[in-house]
Amino acid sequence: MTTLGTASAAPGEVDTGRLAVGQTRDGTEIGLPCAVVNGASDGKTLYLQAASDGDELNGVGVINRLVPQLDPGAVAGTILLVGVVNFHAFQVAEHRNPIDDTKMNRAYPGDENGTSSERIAAVTFDAATRADLILDLHQGSTSRMIDEVRVRCGRRHRLHDECLQLAKTFGCGYVLDQKGPEGQLARAGPDEGIPTIDPELGGCVGWDEDSIATGVIGVFNVLADYGFVDDTATIDRQTRAKSFDQYGSPTGGLVSFEVELGDRVAAGEPLFEITDVFGELKSRVTANNDGIFWRTRRLPQVATGEYVCSVGTNVDTY
Ligand SMILES: [Zn+2]
Repeated sequence: MTTLGTASAAPGEVDTGRLAVGQTRDGTEIGLPCAVVNGASDGKTLYLQAASDGDELNGVGVINRLVPQLDPGAVAGTILLVGVVNFHAFQVAEHRNPIDDTKMNRAYPGDENGTSSERIAAVTFDAATRADLILDLHQGSTSRMIDEVRVRCGRRHRLHDECLQLAKTFGCGYVLDQKGPEGQLARAGPDEGIPTIDPELGGCVGWDEDSIATGVIGVFNVLADYGFVDDTATIDRQTRAKSFDQYGSPTGGLVSFEVELGDRVAAGEPLFEITDVFGELKSRVTANNDGIFWRTRRLPQVATGEYVCSVGTNVDTY
């Protein structure tokens, strides 16, 4: 039997259950929805989690579509899943855990005696470190963003090549290869010797079916390439950015973009205009460097200095 929380599956079986993470303020026991897919034959272990940020629901959509399609009789190895990590944030559709106002993906590897977020991080990290590969499903929150995969261990990390290869196998087409902030699962996993990536499945309010479909294909490609299922993975060249330029607004007003997400931009090319409420042009912002138009704010109205968009820079392919 393979167990995760209250989920327990014999070879060739799937089971779902709850992974205990304490109590709510009224004393109700809470558990993260979890699942075990115990393959009929031996193989590697994959760990998959979603909604580490409580408003990032595309990953939940991926798991929701993925699990019914998995036939444990045809799987070699084990798949461990936690469908909703940031329990408290998910309930109220917020990004951060409202109990401690913390971003979960700054709390790894966690602390079993720590804050609410640190304790949930510790429980999920225990599950993640049973695996040979870790996929931490995210998205660009409710901003608009391309589908991409982040490699966060840093280019000098001993697992960098393996993480980069896993990102290529997941295969969104774009990779951000940049060392992440302290406390990210995609940093803590490689430190334990486990290749870990952070697929960023677009950015939306609610579910984006295109990004969810990309995520499901990405997971199946990983399952095929790493021998969990008897299928051939499609491995394509990825466009990689190693840094970001972020653009704020020089004035207050309304933003209109002059390029589309995923477009190549050249230094000096116009990125966006700011007009006033009556349509009068107030300013036009051009790219500082060559790159790929990666992410934008969702709402058109901005104050002076407010975030508008990001361009992935230092671009190559691999
Ligand atoms: Zn996230």
